[in-house]
Amino acid sequence: MAQTIGFIGLGNMGGPMAANLVGAGHAVRGFDLVPASLDAARAAGVAVAGSALEAAEGADIVVTMLPAGQHVVEVWTQLTGAVPAGTLLIDSSTVDVESARRAHALAEARGCPSIDAPVSGGTGGAKAATLTFMAGGSAEAFARAEPVLKAMGRSVFHCGAAGAGQAAKICNNMILGISMIGVCEAFALGEKLGLSRQALFDVASVSSGQCWSLTTYCPVPGPVPTSPANTDYRPGFAAGLMLKDLRLAQAAAASAGAATPLGAEAAQLYALFNALGHGAEDFSGIIRMLRGSEAG
Ligand code: NAD
Repeated sequence: MAQTIGFIGLGNMGGPMAANLVGAGHAVRGFDLVPASLDAARAAGVAVAGSALEAAEGADIVVTMLPAGQHVVEVWTQLTGAVPAGTLLIDSSTVDVESARRAHALAEARGCPSIDAPVSGGTGGAKAATLTFMAGGSAEAFARAEPVLKAMGRSVFHCGAAGAGQAAKICNNMILGISMIGVCEAFALGEKLGLSRQALFDVASVSSGQCWSLTTYCPVPGPVPTSPANTDYRPGFAAGLMLKDLRLAQAAAASAGAATPLGAEAAQLYALFNALGHGAEDFSGIIRMLRGSEAG
């Protein structure tokens, strides 16, 4: 069913996501602080608004896709001061679990159903409408959100109550950060031992070392031709975003009292990699820092 949707945050992810909602037949009104993002959205068929509240006016559903928790709480504070009760609010940004829960509480106080629905799949997935959504919130809110999320993604999971989507996202990305470092260390050691990259890949990809960081996103050039290692670590998934997600996982672990020693180590290694000026490179490029050389 065609809906009227407000979309706030039309950046690298939000721009193509809003365009896919237009493509699915929804009436989309969007807002962003950056004029170039508004121009791109207009060209994709999004009606451009002059403010977040104007984008939300008359909307059945409002989606936010913003940089971090503080932006989401700020925009949802505005929204929940103005939209009618019953408006469905969806946040797809990656934010800390605490901010996600604060946003849900604002919505609840207004009588608005709400969902935290962060994504995995990157800008390629946003353009191709193949994102994975992991959602937290009530069953009723999820049932209303699901068809709209499906217009922007391929897989949509209901992970539990408020904040569960963000929890799933940071746990998944903590596995990814740790496993990528593990795979990088194995290749760096194999190289020192005179083992060819292909031989290590052939064995580990069908043995107990098998994982996504190895078989889909291999951090050395050669074995997986589509991995960023073959294009001098052009992202892909930027190291700066991996650091953001690892820090969110660490903050959540501290407040929940969970021991995550390898998550902490991965966050430190990505902090160092970013501090050395590699934040815009693909996160698999950390192999160059780990082996202590720039050799491809
Ligand atoms: P981005 O910086 O390209 O886009 C964010 C947009 O929000 C910007 O255009 C900015 O101008 C806008 N914005 C900020 N404050 C605003 C406000 N008050 N009102 C209106 N607009 C405002 O970032 P992105 O890459 O699109 O990522 C968005 C979110 O998705 C982040 O939380 C990120 O962690 C997450 N994410 C990104 C990727 C990726 O590969 N880029 C993958 C998964 C998840």
